[in-house]
Amino acid sequence: MKFVCAKLRHLDIRRMHRKRLLRPGNVLYSRWTRGSINIDVKSLHSIVLRYSIPHDDGERRQVEYPVALTWTDCHLGGQRPYFQCPACARRCLLLYSRAGQFKCRTCHDLVYKTQRVDKSKRMQFRTNKIAMKLDWTDDNMSKKPKHMHRKTFDRLQYEHCYYDLQSLIALCEKFRCLPT
Ligand SMILES: [Zn+2]
Repeated sequence: MKFVCAKLRHLDIRRMHRKRLLRPGNVLYSRWTRGSINIDVKSLHSIVLRYSIPHDDGERRQVEYPVALTWTDCHLGGQRPYFQCPACARRCLLLYSRAGQFKCRTCHDLVYKTQRVDKSKRMQFRTNKIAMKLDWTDDNMSKKPKHMHRKTFDRLQYEHCYYDLQSLIALCEKFRCLPT
C-alpha cells in the first residue's frame, strides 16, 4: 500500500500513529523539497527510510536508513510509539533530516557543534541504550521493569552505572580536568 503525505522536513511519529500508518507491510511516501522519501514499515518495532542524497561527484545515491521504534503504555490504556534515535538511542517523537541523516534534535545540535562523535558520546550512547532496555526515563531511573529477571536487572543497572562513569571520565580527559 502507498500513502502520500504532505511535504515534510522531519518525521513525526505521533502523526504517523494518529493516521494509523504504522502497520507492518505499509510503504509510506512523502515528497521533499528535493526528491522524496519512502518509509517501509517492516514491523511495529522497525521502519526503513529510503531516500537519495547528493555525493561529491554530483550524483545522487540511494540510502537505506533503518530506525527502531519503541512503544510505551499510556495511563489510560493503549500504547504510544517513539522513534529510537539512530545516534543516541534515546526515545523521540520527531526525527530531523540534516546532511542526509535522520536524528533527534539534540543529536543534530551536538553533531553540529562538535562535528564528531568522541569517546564520551560513545559511552553515553551505551548508557542510553541500556536505559531504553530498562524502560527508564529521566525522572524514573531506578525501577525494575515488571517482567525482567532480578539478575538481568542487576547486571544492566551495573552496566548503566559503568558506562555513565566512563562517559564522565572521557569528558574529563578531553578537557584535562582529571587529577593525575
Ligand atoms: Zn539522538
